[in-house]
Amino acid sequence: METIHTVEAKALVELQKRDTAIDALAARVADVPVKIAALAEAFEEKKRSMSAARDALVALQVKKKGVELKLAEADEGIRKHQRELNLVKDNNAFKALLTEIEHDKQSKDDLETEELVLLEEIDKAAVQDKVMQVEVKKTEDFKNSEVAVLEAAGREAAEKLTAAKGERAAAAAALSPDLLERYETIRANRRGLAVAAAHEEPGTGKLSCGGCHMSLTPQKTLDVKKQDTLTFCQDCRCLLYLEKTIFG
Ligand SMILES: [Zn+2]
Repeated sequence: METIHTVEAKALVELQKRDTAIDALAARVADVPVKIAALAEAFEEKKRSMSAARDALVALQVKKKGVELKLAEADEGIRKHQRELNLVKDNNAFKALLTEIEHDKQSKDDLETEELVLLEEIDKAAVQDKVMQVEVKKTEDFKNSEVAVLEAAGREAAEKLTAAKGERAAAAAALSPDLLERYETIRANRRGLAVAAAHEEPGTGKLSCGGCHMSLTPQKTLDVKKQDTLTFCQDCRCLLYLEKTIFG
């Protein structure tokens, strides 16, 4: 079977147009939760970054507390050894204490340097912490407004889909059952596209299949131009029609 000759050719083309529109609406409806999930995930990701920034800041503050404690200990050590210095009589003990004090002072210097570095790091981490909080808030606001828009669009598409399905059912019921069955079979095998418009190249007038884009054979080109005729594409086996023949 290379062509279908039927007065219902136009009705079948219109049914395909309805089905294509329904498929597009259904895809839009199905896409809404996917997009909302992506927005929610982006928001969660930002929140994870925010808590990582907060953890980094807290860790630095804890580290600074530790350094401050060690500094206090070093100070205490220096004071203790200086008190002892006033009490010793023995020269060797005196020298040993001086060495201890020198050692304490050195570690105090090191700790103070470490504290300065930490203070700088804490400043940077605090800035980052603030930045992340602002970003999270922005991401949340963006997500909420996008979700509202998406949900509204989804509801609208769902309503249109319901209406389109009702109209489609009525249009399908008006077709002869045999033709409808053939159409449904081709559509099921061709991912929704049973009937495709032949594309006419401007200038040359050469025809190609709207489904697979292959050029039509000369015979197919003749067939597709006949009234009330749908012809199978020789390559992808979808049914072809010419817009100006069907709707002209
Ligand atoms: Zn084709």
